[in-house]
Amino acid sequence: MNEFQEYYYRHPYINELDTVVLSCHACKYGYKVILKDTIFYPEGGGQPCDKGTIQGIKVIDVQREKEGIVHITKDFLSVGEKVHCKIDWEYRFDLMQNHTGEHIFSGVVKQLYGYSNVGFHMGEYICADFNGELTETDIQEVERRVNQAIWANLSVQEIFCSPSETMKYEYRSKIAIEGTTRIISIAGYDMCACCGMHVKNTGEIGICKVINFEKLRNKTRVFLLSGRRAFIYLGRIQQENAMISKMLSAKPLEISVAVSHLQQRNLDVQKLYRTVSIEMMMKDADKIPTHDAILYTSVLADSEGMRAFCNRCMEKGISTVMVIAKTEVGYSYVIMSRTIDLLSIRAEFNAAIHAKGGGNREMMQGSCTASLAEISTAFHAVTGISMHIVF
Ligand SMILES: [Zn+2]
Repeated sequence: MNEFQEYYYRHPYINELDTVVLSCHACKYGYKVILKDTIFYPEGGGQPCDKGTIQGIKVIDVQREKEGIVHITKDFLSVGEKVHCKIDWEYRFDLMQNHTGEHIFSGVVKQLYGYSNVGFHMGEYICADFNGELTETDIQEVERRVNQAIWANLSVQEIFCSPSETMKYEYRSKIAIEGTTRIISIAGYDMCACCGMHVKNTGEIGICKVINFEKLRNKTRVFLLSGRRAFIYLGRIQQENAMISKMLSAKPLEISVAVSHLQQRNLDVQKLYRTVSIEMMMKDADKIPTHDAILYTSVLADSEGMRAFCNRCMEKGISTVMVIAKTEVGYSYVIMSRTIDLLSIRAEFNAAIHAKGGGNREMMQGSCTASLAEISTAFHAVTGISMHIVF
């Protein structure tokens, strides 16, 4: 039998069927069942197989094999038994909507930009790879035309042709096939050889939305959703948007402006916090009694501010100043000294406190994972200097 004579091709909208079991053999995953007629689409042409049940028994997989359409079931079915088959129609119709949406999308890309669909996958999203670079504007234009085709409610037609008849048609995915070629035609938009399941009229797709796209080398990968899946996805986006809108007290279509203001306010606050913190550090520096060496804990892990603090203390006559500030993983530090050659102790000191850093003879800075006590002890061990802990 010509594969396109299968029941599901002749009756793509039938989702329940009474038929007879022709064979049932044990296999690795359960049983291989062949039916007289089947409404189950087997995996193929980038489209996953149907889900459903045969006489209430779950169908795990459906594949086209040499002997026919093989249904993998968990339980045994008797040969000759009359069985009731049921497919998960919501799932199947979803695939039909998305598959047909992808046809129109690929057809319009070919028409407008000349690129071919060179990779196709139906997972959480419909993923289509085109062998050329599409910009955001190009994609928006394709999307607009695809939805126009959907709203025009065009007929999705099947053309069956023998190897010699294929010459008559211009269509995508043209390869030499021994048997019958099935061309799916949507007038004015697309003609493509395909063995998958499609809706009868484009209006049934409802909507086609590009969710995302990414540039690969000389290719563009487009993530699409059509029909019910697009509706659910857009509903989720709207829910998120509504929550953000409420949090920002902004209208749903004005949240990007509100976020931009929020970002600017955040930057202003950070800048102010830094200015105030450095001012406080400078006031502390002015109040510190003049010791030979001091260790000061800064509230701000800002190397510029920490260096400014060190300079102010050195101007007062303090010979060695270390400033540390808490970071997510430990401490960052800045050391300045007039009496120690910091370059000569740097490697040993950094190793002792597990630090990374650099500097010169008068100043060194870095970050470490050691505790305050460990830093102080390590410094004493390599220099012989005891620091006064201030503030
Ligand atoms: Zn198709």
